[in-house]
Amino acid sequence: MTKPLLVIGILNGDDIGHEIVPASVEIAKAAAARHGLNIDWRPTPIGRKALDDLGSTMPEGTLDSLSKMDGFILGPIGHREYPKGPGAINPHPILRKHFNLFANIRPTRSYPGLGAIYDDIDLIIVRENNEGFQPDRNVVAGSGEFRPTEEMTISVRVITRTGSARVARAAFELARQRKKRLTTVHKNTVFKLGCGMFVEECKKVAKEFPDVVLNEVIVDTMAMRLIRDPQSFDVIVTTNMFGDILTDEAAGLVGGLGMAPGLCIGEGNIAMAQATHGSAPDIAGKGIANPFAMIESTRMMFDWLGHNRGIKQAVDMAATMNRGIEKALSDPATRTKDIRGTGGTADMTRGILAAIAAGV
Ligand code: ATP
Repeated sequence: MTKPLLVIGILNGDDIGHEIVPASVEIAKAAAARHGLNIDWRPTPIGRKALDDLGSTMPEGTLDSLSKMDGFILGPIGHREYPKGPGAINPHPILRKHFNLFANIRPTRSYPGLGAIYDDIDLIIVRENNEGFQPDRNVVAGSGEFRPTEEMTISVRVITRTGSARVARAAFELARQRKKRLTTVHKNTVFKLGCGMFVEECKKVAKEFPDVVLNEVIVDTMAMRLIRDPQSFDVIVTTNMFGDILTDEAAGLVGGLGMAPGLCIGEGNIAMAQATHGSAPDIAGKGIANPFAMIESTRMMFDWLGHNRGIKQAVDMAATMNRGIEKALSDPATRTKDIRGTGGTADMTRGILAAIAAGV
């Protein structure tokens, strides 16, 4: 038997994850088969189901198993609904930290006819993923938030030179492959030291990329400009919390959270496909979740692995998936209701599979 070229984990996550992750895998398998790419798929328990079956939301050995893979698909995690108690932990920060997945690549792209605010957006927000204002991941022990007295809460934001420079470098590399324009978003007018350091590092890294133009926008202005003239941006790099907020805002311009994919990458060893949205418990089990964000995150992972590992079949497979997605999105019958469709998760999945089978 041919040796698999890629080893990929399947981690369903919670709630709609059990619907949109299997859809993504089915589509990826069809596209891989078309290009003769042999993938070793490894289902890996995580989340509420793992807690019920194995006593932990992230069972022992998970990190070790994942470390032997090229990438994995992580469905949304509904940790807020986990029961209190041992074993019920939020796996997100652990995964991102353990694999040093410091760059969260979040594209916002318009597809015509979805009834979205804009039909002509194509930008990428590169969000720093492992420090900033996220109290569950900006410290190695304890929390970046604490309450010294009943009257007072302190939340800490961590900005490091290393963290800023490496995410800036990832963003410059992306900008170099696109329109050679990068915007750094910050608030150094107020956070003179924190945002100041982030911008200083972006400017230092800019010297390595003389072909890319770097400009700056203050975050509050950016929130406004994303609505007024999103077309003037291409690649944007920013700190963790600003990136979290701006990506949801940007998703709203192209059809909502179901249209917001993401890929977490680090130094090149492993990639994690993870949609921007949460586990949407309000619509779980109804067959109506929009699988686009998860499918597109999966597609991005194969495209990235293809380029990173020099595997042409993976790049071709990602291109096939893209054409299948575009075809399904162009027909209301094969897209979900949140994007002016008449179908459900299964209809959209079938639409993409049919397009791939038809040799799109
Ligand atoms: P988190 O903080 O974990 O990102 P959240 O509080 O932002 O989660 P989500 O779970 O993302 O919440 O859901 C927000 C809203 O968007 C919900 O009403 C949900 O149904 C909707 N939503 C999220 N993802 C999808 C999707 N893939 N398809 C359709 N609707 C979605």
